[in-house]
Amino acid sequence: MSCLFCRIISGEIPSAKVYEDDQLMAFTDITPQAPLHVLIVPRKHIATLNELTPDDDGLVGAMTRTAAAIAKSNGYDASGFRTVFNCNADAGQAVFHIHLHLLAGRTLAWPPG
Ligand code: AMP
Ligand code: ZN
Repeated sequence: MSCLFCRIISGEIPSAKVYEDDQLMAFTDITPQAPLHVLIVPRKHIATLNELTPDDDGLVGAMTRTAAAIAKSNGYDASGFRTVFNCNADAGQAVFHIHLHLLAGRTLAWPPG
């Protein structure tokens, strides 16, 4: 198994887990870009958003709701937070197993770099 996030999900590589259920796992980003920086990752290996199918709609919805719940549990629901999926080279995707970034705890510039 060569995928980094599959190896984290299997427990082969340790992570700072913040949430898990039968579909998803969420853990702290190893290079946090904000006071709260969590990655919400499906257990199912999907390389990029380009490979999503209608069968994954519920999964992506659960990822989004989970991000909002983690933001809320850290006290950032009212002040605000950002969620980001990077897809392929121009967006800087580095790990080819889809993941939703949750960023909060500071003012986040827009447009992004
Ligand atoms: P992306 O550029 O959207 O593919 O984001 C990949 C993210 O994974 C980056 O923010 C990395 O800091 C993060 N990352 C890489 N390796 C690990 C790891 N072992 N544990 C947690 N986060 C990681
Ligand atoms: Zn994977």
